[in-house]
Amino acid sequence: MGNESRATSNESLRPATGDRRATIMRMEWPALKAAVSGCTECALHAKRIKTVFGVGDENADWLFVGEGPGADEDAQGEPFVGQAGKLLDSMLAAIKLQRGTNVYIANVVKCRPPGNRNPEPGEALACEPYLDRQIDLLRPRLIVALGKVAAANLLATDASVASMRGKVHDYRGTPLIVTYHPAYLLRSLTDKAKAWADLCFAVRTMEGLQSGANAPRS
Ligand code: URA
Ligand code: SF4
Repeated sequence: MGNESRATSNESLRPATGDRRATIMRMEWPALKAAVSGCTECALHAKRIKTVFGVGDENADWLFVGEGPGADEDAQGEPFVGQAGKLLDSMLAAIKLQRGTNVYIANVVKCRPPGNRNPEPGEALACEPYLDRQIDLLRPRLIVALGKVAAANLLATDASVASMRGKVHDYRGTPLIVTYHPAYLLRSLTDKAKAWADLCFAVRTMEGLQSGANAPRS
């Protein structure tokens, strides 16, 4: 046997799994989108109608991250298109932003958790490389985590939204701010004022980041 066949058998010794993350982290947008649309990596794939990859400006400064698709998103394949999405659009409008222009919207998990339960840690972990690759391709200046589930997964903490808001956190080198989830705000009028304060804080932080100055800390 010559060197050639030896090289071939070495190839086959390479682990088939374990390098999934590394493979995803090399994908460009088209390959990444295709990988998500055909993904069966966690149990959430079984009951989904559509995967919900994310939507918006691929050169956005702003990235908003929710927890996962609900029924409307599952049906349409786009994040935040139901009631909570309408409120998110109003929140964006309040700070002179709109979906698709300098804004990208994504979720921690790309498939709907049945019955709108929270994604399980294993599901979020399985889906994490997709969001991480989206972030690396987008290179947003600022991430806004919408609600406890998004913040908990991105910051690996069990802390409350109340304790996390008003600070600039860091996710893999990108500044991150936490605020309430719009679905929660639909039920809690008092926290709407706090969400407005968070959006103002996010705008000030973004202005600081865009001008290269240090972000405000409170
Ligand atoms: N809630 C989320 O967290 N994400 C969506 O896309 C819709 C509702
Ligand atoms: Fe794949 Fe993410 Fe859907 Fe799970 S939730 S099947 S990891 S795309």
